[in-house]
Amino acid sequence: MAAQDFIPYSTQNIVEDDLAAVRTVLTSGWLTQGPAIPRFEAAFAAAHEVKHAVAMCNATVALHTACVALGVGPGSRVWTSVNSFVASANCALYCGATVDFVDIDPHTRNMSLAALEQKLQRAATEGTLPSVVVPVDFAGLPCDLAEMRALADRYGFRILEDASHAVGARYRGKPVGSAYAHVSVFSFHPVKIITTGEGGLVTTNDDELARKIQLLRSHGITRDPAQMVGPSEGGWYYEQVALGFNYRITDVQAALGSSQLARLPSLHARRVELAARYDEKLRSFPLHLPARVADRESSWHLYAVQIDSTRSTVSRATVFAQLRDAGIGVNVHYIPIHLQPYYQQLGFRRGQFPNAERYYEGAITLPLFPQLSEAQQDRVVAALAEALDA
Ligand SMILES: *Cc1c(COP(=O)(O)O)cnc(C)c1O
Repeated sequence: MAAQDFIPYSTQNIVEDDLAAVRTVLTSGWLTQGPAIPRFEAAFAAAHEVKHAVAMCNATVALHTACVALGVGPGSRVWTSVNSFVASANCALYCGATVDFVDIDPHTRNMSLAALEQKLQRAATEGTLPSVVVPVDFAGLPCDLAEMRALADRYGFRILEDASHAVGARYRGKPVGSAYAHVSVFSFHPVKIITTGEGGLVTTNDDELARKIQLLRSHGITRDPAQMVGPSEGGWYYEQVALGFNYRITDVQAALGSSQLARLPSLHARRVELAARYDEKLRSFPLHLPARVADRESSWHLYAVQIDSTRSTVSRATVFAQLRDAGIGVNVHYIPIHLQPYYQQLGFRRGQFPNAERYYEGAITLPLFPQLSEAQQDRVVAALAEALDA
């Protein structure tokens, strides 16, 4: 591979089996609403040891639908991690709710448990408790789910886990999406762990929530007499019993998802291997490397580093530009959501979430995807060494 070849920060991993799976569906007679969708859902639920999985056309609509199913509406309060993609917060605004943020733990870059608890105590005295909290498994590292669930039970909110990064991540011996959170959402965008082109999915062990989410995914329409208000008028009959959406995924995408999911163990193993290799090679660099926490295993969606400003005076902008010039597709995750102009116009201000703001100032995401070669990874490390003078 020529030295100037561009290395993206992430990209899909598509093999012959994926092509065969898609081809089979394309000629099967069902392009959408066929059997490939429940097959994918069942396989995903089994892999994540959870009762229900509902696939949708992307994770953003999955977050929106989960909010609606959890009863989020005008007057509701929803809190999320400020170090996330904007969709983690937008989902509540779609419902007319009020959004607020919780700062991060600088070590894990996930929602800080201490900051959450403090904010809850204050909200309890002011009568402004949230109905839903949306923690995010940043970079694929599960957040403090057990402690958050204890807080949820004490303060009466429900947990909508944004596990978009965390397909295959494990927490206390079980896959995320199975215990602790009331509902979890996963993304299958091409840069994520497995892909369906565009795609998302909700998991829950709650039968009633699963039923609502299935209903909302397809217009709020049911053909099940048990869910109808009146008696069926015949074989053609359906009822719209809620205001739903068309948030369906296609059979073509679901077939790709099943094929990808079958390779999850090997895709994950390769990410683990590459992450360990980065850890080893970057150990002496003036960087904060991703945290490792004993009771949980990251999916390693992202390998995000932070320039340690006590050991390096080189700016993130300089390092970023130098790596891009070297053909390395570094990225930044994330610009804290409250700094976005749309959220500033809602009244949020710089300085409100200092840990996330400080992290962002030094944050760089390095390339990590299963087919990244060791030679390519060495090129990333060498370019980073030059930029940081390490
Ligand atoms: C990718 C992502 C989303 C949105 O996923 P889509 O499938 O692209 O809609 C939401 N939250 C987080 C944290 C993400 O990384």
